[in-house]
Amino acid sequence: MKKLMLLEGGKLTVGDAPMPEPGPGEVLVKMASTVVCGSELKGYKSGGGVGNNSGHEGAGQIAKLGEGVDASWLGKRVGVSAITGCGTCPPCLEKRYTWCRNKFRFHGAMHAEYIAVPTTACAPLPDGMSWDCGALVSGDGLGVPFHTNTKIIAPDTVKTVAVFGLGPIGLGSVLLQSFLGRKVIGVDLSPDRLAMAKSMGAAEVIKGDEADAVAVIKELTGGIGADICIEAVGVPKTVEQCLAAVKTGGQVLLDGEQPEVKISPSNQLIRRDITMTGCWFYHFCEIEPMIGLVKQGLPVEKLITHTFPGGEAPEGFRLFGEGKTGKVALHW
Ligand SMILES: [Zn+2]
Ligand SMILES: [Zn+2]
Repeated sequence: MKKLMLLEGGKLTVGDAPMPEPGPGEVLVKMASTVVCGSELKGYKSGGGVGNNSGHEGAGQIAKLGEGVDASWLGKRVGVSAITGCGTCPPCLEKRYTWCRNKFRFHGAMHAEYIAVPTTACAPLPDGMSWDCGALVSGDGLGVPFHTNTKIIAPDTVKTVAVFGLGPIGLGSVLLQSFLGRKVIGVDLSPDRLAMAKSMGAAEVIKGDEADAVAVIKELTGGIGADICIEAVGVPKTVEQCLAAVKTGGQVLLDGEQPEVKISPSNQLIRRDITMTGCWFYHFCEIEPMIGLVKQGLPVEKLITHTFPGGEAPEGFRLFGEGKTGKVALHW
């Protein structure tokens, strides 16, 4: 079977790999669509994971069952979650695998024709839902923006949301927050991504290297600041900008993985009653409500701007790495 593989020196190629065999409790999924996550680029650029790939968003059809798996799974169309937990601890019983109190498992290498995963990683998709859509509602594509939105303390009061960083995750928040009826202000350096944010519903966009984003957000909100600022870049400067651009009493949500950031609790949080919240990945139990949003009309497929056959995955990654695309889908 074909699989995307990293070679020494950070080069990607699609080559032949042995067919995975589903173990007890596992199924073999014939992948239809896998989508590329921004977090994958770091690994490839650092040359990590030679001989493998870090694909962790995908959807496909169950082609073979491992020992002990109920026959009803065969042929099911599923979105595949990259994380499963022990299945028995309290968070796992609520299908919040990232909070597993024992050890959660990561199921990577999804950029391939077939993968073997436990049934607990498989979310059945409704009839008629496209494979691309299935990959987005069971991966970080919509998962992270959705999970981030659940962290908002007073959702009914939120009218303005500023999103710093319009990579795939930031664009997902633009799409979701606009769909929820909020006025979204997007900030990025790339003109391509500012244009994508506009097409996904952003009311205003700011080119961060040409304008003072904090000042513009204040101006656009009558001098008050945004109700919510979402940090989706992962650099200290944008954390500081989020804290400065959020209204007194507002909330800053952190999606971007960060190095250390120097913060003055008194000046930046305490005396302005600011809540800062970390948001990581999403919960398996959130796939069902995400499917519900798609049924209500959330145009989630807009997040995918480029599609390549699996065999041309390296070209997809090249373009994605240049920051000129939204999500890139690979069809196997
Ligand atoms: Zn990811
Ligand atoms: Zn657990």
